[in-house]
Amino acid sequence: MVFDHHVHLEHGPYSPHEYTEAWVAQYFDTAVRMDVTGIGVVEHAYRFTEARGLLPGQWALDRCRYSLETYHHRIRQITDKFPVALGLEVDFVPEQVAGIATYLAQYLWDFVLGSVHFLGEFGLDVREMDHYYAEWGQELVWRRYYETTIAAVESDLFDVITHPDLPKLFGHPKPPLEFLDPWYRRLADALNAHQVALEINTAGLRRPIEEIYPALRLLEWAHQAEVSITIGSDAHEPENVGIFFPEALLLAKRAGYRSALGFKHGERQSLPFE
Ligand SMILES: [Zn+2]
Ligand SMILES: [Zn+2]
Repeated sequence: MVFDHHVHLEHGPYSPHEYTEAWVAQYFDTAVRMDVTGIGVVEHAYRFTEARGLLPGQWALDRCRYSLETYHHRIRQITDKFPVALGLEVDFVPEQVAGIATYLAQYLWDFVLGSVHFLGEFGLDVREMDHYYAEWGQELVWRRYYETTIAAVESDLFDVITHPDLPKLFGHPKPPLEFLDPWYRRLADALNAHQVALEINTAGLRRPIEEIYPALRLLEWAHQAEVSITIGSDAHEPENVGIFFPEALLLAKRAGYRSALGFKHGERQSLPFE
């Protein structure tokens, strides 16, 4: 029994058309085919007008276009067709903790994913901003990434931290393990202290790095610290629901995990792999 707790319905320009039953049914069909028994829908919080100003820079401003109310309403309507948990993927910005809390409090969510895609205006996964990696140097990028991620955990705004070694995605050389290992351990300890889960995200296999997020070593620290995991495809199209889940389960088992978390009506369930 496995839930895919990282699914985006977005597809080109966002419109009511995205949420037609036919569009959503394609996600459910793939889920059934891939043995995925539940879906967590998590649109990016920045896509909604209510998020204006929560992320710095023009990139985000250009994307705040849609109605959070419509999203919330439409997804709640489809939850009787398939086991669907309603959530959001929210960018953590340290200066905006109060603003994010206010944004989230407008509606009830089954779960909220916390993500660090941005360090200031540097979008870690934005192709056109790739030059920042060389300009900052790898150690500064990774140090700031984990400082920000740990602050995200400590904010208590989120249930899960997503793709927790995102800066590897373009395949730039990582800092050595002696540098990363203490950060992995600090993150695992913070997750345990705040009862926040860590996500295994298979989208890294579709990126230049061709690796699941996170590295096995981080997952091992998380397991040792008794941190729960969720599994997500980060699908943005129906065909990617549940993609590479056998690989994700294998990685989880290598780190010692035998179950993952699922969210239903805002409550956490433990889902054994077998
Ligand atoms: Zn993300
Ligand atoms: Zn995502």
